[in-house]
Amino acid sequence: MSTVKVEKMEKLNIKRDYYQMVINGERVDGTLKETSPTYNPATGELLAQVAKASKDDVDKAVKAARYAFEYGKWRKYPVGKRARVLNNIATIMRSQFNELVELEVLNSGKSLSAAQGQVLQAIEDFEFYAGAIVGHRGEVNNMPYGFFNYTQKEPVGVCGQIIPWNYPLMMAAWKIAPAIAAGCSVVLKPASLTPLTAIVLTEICHEAGVPEGVVNVVPGPGSSVGDAIVEHQDIDKVAFTGSTPIGKDIMEKASHTLKRITLELGGKSPNIVFDDADIDAAVYGSIFGIFYNTGQSCEARSRLYVHENIYNEFMEKFIKKTKQLRLGNPLDQATQVGAIISRNQLEVIDGYIKSAIKDGATIVTGGHEVKVEGYEDGFWYAPTIITDVNHNMKIVREEIFGPVVVVMKFNDEKEVIKLANDTDYGLGSAVWTKDQGRATRIAHKMRAGIVMVNCPFSAFPGTPFGGYKKSGFGRELSIETLNLYTETKSVLSYYGGKPLNPLGV
Ligand code: NAD
Ligand code: MN
Repeated sequence: MSTVKVEKMEKLNIKRDYYQMVINGERVDGTLKETSPTYNPATGELLAQVAKASKDDVDKAVKAARYAFEYGKWRKYPVGKRARVLNNIATIMRSQFNELVELEVLNSGKSLSAAQGQVLQAIEDFEFYAGAIVGHRGEVNNMPYGFFNYTQKEPVGVCGQIIPWNYPLMMAAWKIAPAIAAGCSVVLKPASLTPLTAIVLTEICHEAGVPEGVVNVVPGPGSSVGDAIVEHQDIDKVAFTGSTPIGKDIMEKASHTLKRITLELGGKSPNIVFDDADIDAAVYGSIFGIFYNTGQSCEARSRLYVHENIYNEFMEKFIKKTKQLRLGNPLDQATQVGAIISRNQLEVIDGYIKSAIKDGATIVTGGHEVKVEGYEDGFWYAPTIITDVNHNMKIVREEIFGPVVVVMKFNDEKEVIKLANDTDYGLGSAVWTKDQGRATRIAHKMRAGIVMVNCPFSAFPGTPFGGYKKSGFGRELSIETLNLYTETKSVLSYYGGKPLNPLGV
């Protein structure tokens, strides 16, 4: 297959049967000349073939990224010009909104409404960083008379970026937008299960005017392609989103070359409903909190604590609404819960349910695979509510990454704070109460990077997103992220007229 300069593509052809990698502004097959199939999880059907990168392709991509960084024009552009290109990316994405949403739905099995929100956020992320980068600058510091100091923010260099399958396009945007806004070059590895929209986004970056070599995409397995990125001698930073075990592995390997790293890892986020909460709002928010994106969210509120005074009323509504959730054609606007990403993930979820039953928990609803009419060969799991659990159980302690929530009763604020924080993770947390003082106390006491107060949503462009404890470190989506894609250089100068001779030579 030939290579086509991405910048010279006539019109973006978003849906096709074969997707190449993008290295140095060209679509290429890669050195292996091998492809990997990618599927539609809702139907189990083959969706497309994707070029499979090798270690050599990673090396080529890093060389291109390095060359672009050292000798290219991107980081030397006036910042306003970089901002204009970021806005161009957003504009092209808006013009292809429905096509991007459709491709995301087909490759991930998620519902149309979930994909719409995520593609929109990906677009707004480029717009946010187009604005934010213009105001991102150093400082002038106080010095003794005769001395002058300023700092400047310089791009960190070549960034390896590794992302998961649950938000394929949005995670690519969270990674690429701040990195290129800061003037870095990027080698991105999408998840093996969901590479398509990240590849298309890379093509869009070129169409929008990002110069060759600045954004490269190398699809392939984590064990080979991901590992080659993490171990590469000439990558300055690795930004990773994925599971905690792989995050630990990356942290260890990145130490070999002392790469800068940011890790966005797993979660087991608590969701606390007090007896003075607006019950309906808490029910809607708690349903969204766990079943949005079929529970395949790092910030899924998968541990629900309900005050005993309202437990029965809350649970009656929560269970009823959960049973009514609509699973079905993911491309239907009315569908509320999409498919599970893979057969393998479905088995993982089912394994957790079996462990819960063995531990003596009660499955209130769900707890099994479902056959959705017309989608019998896809991977579907019933939204699941589990009670009669305690903090010693695996189902309460471990991230499941599926549509499964455990519910516990509490009666005391101090007790529930302790329970909420009794986890290795610290990504999200949510509280429902009308008592402003209590909401603030809880917000301050949560050992988590995000607290949602009477709010179903965990992130917007501009709000820092990231974890405490084993949920990782570093923040995305915000101004702070730009600091993580830059080094701070301190420049000291002396302007006194008299020569300085500190050693008295
Ligand atoms: P994963 O850790 O299995 O894989 C993530 C990425 O790492 C994939 O691209 C994978 O190919 C790659 N990878 C795998 N092994 C690797 C290795 N040895 N070296 C380098 N790269 C390797 O995660 P997943 O199953 O794709 O996604 C689910 C996980 O992601 C969950 O734990 C979830 O909580 C987490 N997640 C976190 C956030 C966040 O912002 N904190 C957001 C989304 C997902
Ligand atoms: Mn995985």
